[in-house]
Amino acid sequence: MKNDQLSLQTKLLHNKHKFDSLTGAVSVPIQHASTYHQPSVDEFGPYEYSRGSNPTRDALDEAIAELEGGCRGFSFGSGMAAISTCFMLLSKGDHVVITDDVYGGTYRVITQVLNRYGIEHTFVDMTNLTEVEKAIRPETKVVYLETPSNPLMKVTDIAAVAKIAKKHGCLTYVDNTFMTPVLQRPLELGADVVLHSATKFIGGHSDVVAGLAVVKDEALAKEIAFLHNAFGAILGVQDAWLILRGLKTLHVRLKQSSEAALAIAQSLLEIPAVEEVYYPGLPSHSGYAIHQAQASGAGAVLSFRLKDRDAVRSFVEHVQIPVFAVSLGAVESILSYPATMSHGSMPPEERAKRGIHDGLLRFSVGLEDPQDIIQDFTQAFAKGSTLDKVK
Ligand SMILES: *Cc1c(COP(=O)(O)O)cnc(C)c1O
Repeated sequence: MKNDQLSLQTKLLHNKHKFDSLTGAVSVPIQHASTYHQPSVDEFGPYEYSRGSNPTRDALDEAIAELEGGCRGFSFGSGMAAISTCFMLLSKGDHVVITDDVYGGTYRVITQVLNRYGIEHTFVDMTNLTEVEKAIRPETKVVYLETPSNPLMKVTDIAAVAKIAKKHGCLTYVDNTFMTPVLQRPLELGADVVLHSATKFIGGHSDVVAGLAVVKDEALAKEIAFLHNAFGAILGVQDAWLILRGLKTLHVRLKQSSEAALAIAQSLLEIPAVEEVYYPGLPSHSGYAIHQAQASGAGAVLSFRLKDRDAVRSFVEHVQIPVFAVSLGAVESILSYPATMSHGSMPPEERAKRGIHDGLLRFSVGLEDPQDIIQDFTQAFAKGSTLDKVK
């Protein structure tokens, strides 16, 4: 059977690097060498210097390229390194149309770094296609989106945005961190660059910081390869190996966590203290139909809104199972407070404009038994409401 006929679940395990061709080792060897002996003055071997390429990193680059359906993948020292390097395709005077509920770190690069180099931007509600098209100028080179977005889980129609972008000669960048290629493959929907914080679901164990980029066009791949080597924000080999190991269990982890996320989202709907639940797997979610059409699952992240910061404080104090931390996509469930964590770098008025309410919590579902989480949440809410009565 040809590899391209295999399902993605199988491809995670059975690829070119299933075993090492030299030794038969069933784990990709970690090649620490920074430099490589060359056969002669006139002849170069396949490797030269590890900033440019390295066999362990190459294995990861090939794996992610195949999974996303791209021609080439690149691994970086963090998700932000991947995102920032891909923005370096732009030059002074260029313009970016970007989703208004973009990841806080990307917001920071756009508003506090790229602006200093004369790269301009317009934030738009990416779910509103008319607004997207209106924001495009003659200088626009990139349309940048995340779907489902962070932390409000807004769903953008990738194919529709990519079509508008293409019509105006712009590239479409999609941050696919929340979905991974297991659930959503933006290149197949017309996107040009797919970006990942592999720190999250792909790594999956809260033990490595890494970023990935995948493109489908050879010419674009060459430009990114140049920037990858020029900037040098590469991934170290130990970390590349950890990400390769994470990939092997990605499908099974996401399946379990997504099922649990749906059960937890449904249980939150029943809790009076919860004013709103944001999860694209709920039929009541405004982007449900679009998400169903472009992704094969709703993923393992949901958000919910309580009355205010005091209600959040009480809930966080009483809840016992999840880790209370930044980040997401791990084997353990992680509860985050966007207002001070992922979106802490956004001024309060910008947060308010984007609906990142002081009562909003984001929950990344891990591999615990969902019934234990539901019980834990229930007891934490019960304690919170007793406190209300005492007040
Ligand atoms: C975490 C995250 C990033 C940044 O990745 P790092 O690995 O932390 O640099 C980018 N986009 C999204 C959606 C993220 O969740």
